Amino acid sequence: MKRSVLIGLLAGVMGMCLTACGGGKSEIANATHDENTVKIAYLPITHALPVFEEAEELKGSTGLNVELVKYGSWPELLDALNTGRVDGASVLIELAMKSKAQGIGIKAVALGHRDGNVIVVNKNINTMADLKGKTFAIPHRQSSHNILLNEALALNNMSLDDIKITELSPAEMPSALVSKQIDGYCVAEPFGARAVALDVAKVLYTSEELWEDSLCCGLVLTDTFIDEKPELAKEFVASYKTAGENLDVSRTKEIGKTYLKQEDAILDVSLEWISFDNLEITKEAYENLVQKVKKYGLLDNPPTYEEFVKTEF
Ligand code: ZN
Repeated sequence: MKRSVLIGLLAGVMGMCLTACGGGKSEIANATHDENTVKIAYLPITHALPVFEEAEELKGSTGLNVELVKYGSWPELLDALNTGRVDGASVLIELAMKSKAQGIGIKAVALGHRDGNVIVVNKNINTMADLKGKTFAIPHRQSSHNILLNEALALNNMSLDDIKITELSPAEMPSALVSKQIDGYCVAEPFGARAVALDVAKVLYTSEELWEDSLCCGLVLTDTFIDEKPELAKEFVASYKTAGENLDVSRTKEIGKTYLKQEDAILDVSLEWISFDNLEITKEAYENLVQKVKKYGLLDNPPTYEEFVKTEF
């Protein structure tokens, strides 16, 4: 593929995302926020597919309804969650843990997905050692992508001191790799798959090679919403988990095309890496995450499972 064509393709996708995701505006600007509607913030990534599926399944329902509110970056989404402009969010679990540690009243009620992350690098990079002195992008310091990078470095007797880290928003990463601004990245999907499908990057590690039963995104709800509407919250979480179970290969692709506006070739690569079965947050997996956020310096005082995770309604 010619470089100019490739950059055009990448720029097109970025433009589309910036237009669609811009400014934290609701994609359903005129949606009625009635008493049965749950307002959920999200970023357009495959990691949020169960909430898209749930919203689709509930369309036209006279009872529970989901209003999706699209954001273009994690800081914008966090601001909406932390200030109570939404009832909940599909969000990087480490960001939600930090909010909780800072006193924001939220609970994690389910996972966004299982596995589904990769470390991608320029095609001339063959090992982590080749990344020495090079620039690597993560979406946010508070992310499983940061933990996965740390795990990959540790596996190769390296540390963050050996590379340069930069934070970029997910949609910026594929073009930053093509323009040689960065040499590798780890981020929510489908942005790793985009570079692989366009044949400008290769996978160095998948998340399960670095961290068994890894956590990444979580579905969180505000305490205000749970306290004021406990029955609706219960119904919403149950229907979310069912939606995850309903995401078989063909349905996942259909929802991915509708909500993410991504081509088949990219979704085919990306959806190989992820699953949406059993979205319960187990104590064992959460405590493993807590150890890692402390070990790699993401958070000194992460909330305990009992403080932060709500499985019973
Ligand atoms: Zn995720």
